[in-house]
Amino acid sequence: MAEIKTIGILTSGGDAPGMNAAIRAVTRAGIFAGLNVKGIYRGYKGLVTDEIVDFKTQNVSNIIQQGGTILKTARCQEFMTPEGRQLAYDNARRHEIDALVVIGGDGSLTGARIFANEFNFPVIGLPGTIDNDLYGTDTTIGYDTALNTIMQCVDKIRDTATSHERLFFIEVMGRDAGFLALNGAIASGAEAAIIPEISTEVDQLAELIQNGFRKSKNSSIVLVAESPVTGGAMGLAERVKKEYPNYDVRVSILGHLQRGGSPTAQDRVLASIMGAAAIDALMDDQRNVMIGVKNHEIVYVPFTKAIRNEKPINRGLLETLRRLSI
Ligand code: ADP
Repeated sequence: MAEIKTIGILTSGGDAPGMNAAIRAVTRAGIFAGLNVKGIYRGYKGLVTDEIVDFKTQNVSNIIQQGGTILKTARCQEFMTPEGRQLAYDNARRHEIDALVVIGGDGSLTGARIFANEFNFPVIGLPGTIDNDLYGTDTTIGYDTALNTIMQCVDKIRDTATSHERLFFIEVMGRDAGFLALNGAIASGAEAAIIPEISTEVDQLAELIQNGFRKSKNSSIVLVAESPVTGGAMGLAERVKKEYPNYDVRVSILGHLQRGGSPTAQDRVLASIMGAAAIDALMDDQRNVMIGVKNHEIVYVPFTKAIRNEKPINRGLLETLRRLSI
């Protein structure tokens, strides 16, 4: 295989806390291995429009603690077309970039896979998403920070919910995955979580009400994953008003604050280990894989597997939540 001398690094799609720690790790580990490193701004957009600059160790100083991404991120329609990807490839080659490290979610890694196959171009992916919805890795960069943010918000909402004896639906992110909702519910001592993974199997709302989940409680908090499959917090509140009018129901949608903030220690360590592993993978002639972590060990997950979009939720956690919320 052709020797890799220069790598390009970009962050793409939804931003996640810890992306900066990953940029830092890839840059520093790359330079440590004797590689040239180029920073590509605004994800695939910067590759298409040629926003590519040299990255030295100083470019990534003092960023490990910052949320967001210093490389910015974007969604790029042009990269969805063969013409756009050709422009991206031409720019990469003009800058003598031999390989890419892409930090992003499901969509970004889908783009990475297509680009890698089309041009026989080495790409390594890092799972950067708060949703934790990438297959083949136990966790993703940004997930732990978002989970902690959710926990802190729910703690605050609990104070007001208890004072008024209310039922609160709190909508959290996660797209079509219930990891944030389920683990957020356990971490904050919520009464229940309504998640997309089981939405087609059971009427989770009816089950909750029928089980009399609120009888002995001052307040009830239910975390709802934002997916359309769950109905969302608003949809569920409307249903309660119609079907169970005795409940004093309120909605809180946490929204974009879940993406922000300084990454937790766990996310910084994860991003650092994964960033360094991306360089090891390239040196090891690995191509077109996502770096994952399974049982605390680094694993290489082929893109096709990572984006399969069916990462299973741990159903045992649902049962634990049920047992602890009596
Ligand atoms: P995320 O990575 O957070 O899932 P998106 O789904 O928005 O974010 O994807 C980010 C970018 O990845 C898109 O704007 C696009 O440039 C690229 N991308 C996504 N899907 C494809 C695809 N099927 N083909 C080519 N590029 C894609």
